[in-house]
Amino acid sequence: MSLDGTYDAGNIFAKILRGEMPSARVFEDEHVFAFMDVFPQAKGHTLVIPKHSQARNFLEAEPEIVGPLMLGVQRVARAVRAALNPDGLVITQFNGAPAGQTVYHLHFHIIPRWEGVPLGRHGEGMADPGELKALAEQIAAKIS
Ligand code: 5GP
Repeated sequence: MSLDGTYDAGNIFAKILRGEMPSARVFEDEHVFAFMDVFPQAKGHTLVIPKHSQARNFLEAEPEIVGPLMLGVQRVARAVRAALNPDGLVITQFNGAPAGQTVYHLHFHIIPRWEGVPLGRHGEGMADPGELKALAEQIAAKIS
């Protein structure tokens, strides 16, 4: 069952954290790393991941990483709002394949929403790297 298992250090987010794969970085501190989702469900779709965790999902999160991770999610979400002025924001997190999880390194999605703009499908349509970099810079400029 995908809710249980062993952390695979070869997962794509672990590779991004180690700098083995590129990403459009928004923010990082000693606890969290935030970057643009490469298959965004909306403009500004950002992911926040813990840097020092072997949790595949939220249920496995080590107690000491939960507080700093959630503070990081809030900090980045505020910056997304300040940068892009959405009408709303979805903050979500999936546990196990039936729930929609595809990458098994704990992560939170921050997805801006605008009135009348439908949500894109999960994990579809790769974004232009240049556009993602520009969005990452826009959001990074609003981190406080
Ligand atoms: P999950 O489905 O596990 O909740 O979310 C995984 C997310 O990671 C998806 O939204 C997907 O678009 C995103 N993703 C998958 N591969 C990559 C990648 O190589 N780079 C980035 N930046 N995002 C990825």
